Amino acid sequence: MTETTQAPVIATQLDDLRTRVRVWREAGATIALVPTMGALHDGHLSLVRHAKEACTRTVVSIFVNPTQFAPNEDFATYPRDDEGDLAKLAAKQVDLVWMPTPALMYPPDFATTVEPRGAAQGLESETRPHFFAGVATVCTKLFVQVAPDVAVFGEKDYQQLQVIRQTVRDLDLPMSILGAPTIRESDGLAMSSRNAYLDADERKRAGQLYAALQKVSAAVRAGDDHDKALGQGRKVIERAGFKLDYLVLRDARTLSEPRAKAEPVSLRVLVAAHLGKTRLIDNIAVDEAG
Ligand code: AMP
Repeated sequence: MTETTQAPVIATQLDDLRTRVRVWREAGATIALVPTMGALHDGHLSLVRHAKEACTRTVVSIFVNPTQFAPNEDFATYPRDDEGDLAKLAAKQVDLVWMPTPALMYPPDFATTVEPRGAAQGLESETRPHFFAGVATVCTKLFVQVAPDVAVFGEKDYQQLQVIRQTVRDLDLPMSILGAPTIRESDGLAMSSRNAYLDADERKRAGQLYAALQKVSAAVRAGDDHDKALGQGRKVIERAGFKLDYLVLRDARTLSEPRAKAEPVSLRVLVAAHLGKTRLIDNIAVDEAG
């Protein structure tokens, strides 16, 4: 089956965006937003599919958000491919692509930040202390700009998904958040724009991150002690040449540490590790088939 291509509307000005959305709403449409930083891959495109199932109109935003990168991180070199992205979104029949400029998002007198705690504490925040304030602030702006009924986020960035759910709840934003499963390469490596940084040898080893998550998840399901299960996973990761930031089991909703002998909660295994210059993150549910 061939996909028909229909160029989406590209909006770079807030007035344009709001006029389009208002016209759709007056015609009875529901609106889904998929926030991205571009360099789109099949993981992003799966979010578009979920958005199209949830609502009658789909908006994808592309904005590489400077405030979620620390000065030593990869903002300047983050992969950018507007032309390729727009072609992929046209093939998926996205209705509108919102591409605000940094000056529109952050004028020189910009002075307000959404500072999440709760699920934002620990894990990614240990090594990236300003990350979730950057993410929560830009997403809140995108939500107010587009005013969608639904915004779709990937489970790939699981802590981010839980932080955004909390932000929407705490600020009474009139919309819902839809979490979508992680799309993987054939060896299990979660698709990510940053996988482009891996050299050929690193790419061969990168799938071991998922193998380690599966190992921990299977061991916990089999009734192993958590520390023992995590130890097995750690071995797989270190043997593949990664330098580990964290490998943990957490309450899937709050991301707090599960209490021993507490009433059963859903658990999630989350990992962050460096392979050469590239930092990769991934996670799976403990009850996910391994
Ligand atoms: P990014 O452009 O990396 O900021 O990601 C934009 C959205 O795509 C976020 O909600 C991510 O969680 C989601 N995403 C990134 N990679 C994947 C993947 N492999 N599978 C599913 N969703 C993903």
